[in-house]
Amino acid sequence: MNCVCPECKNDVNLGRYPNLAVGNVIECDVCGITLVVKGIENNEVFTEIADEGK
Ligand SMILES: [Zn+2]
Repeated sequence: MNCVCPECKNDVNLGRYPNLAVGNVIECDVCGITLVVKGIENNEVFTEIADEGK
């Protein structure tokens, strides 16, 4: 699966998340931002930036 970070536009390494599903929280290892999985379609993972610091 592929996931492009909405913040830094780099590919997020999904190897750490073998059972990725909608609602999961992942982290971009390039910029370190926290992302929430919003949808998975055609091997593409769509994410939204999560609100941090709460
Ligand atoms: Zn990033």
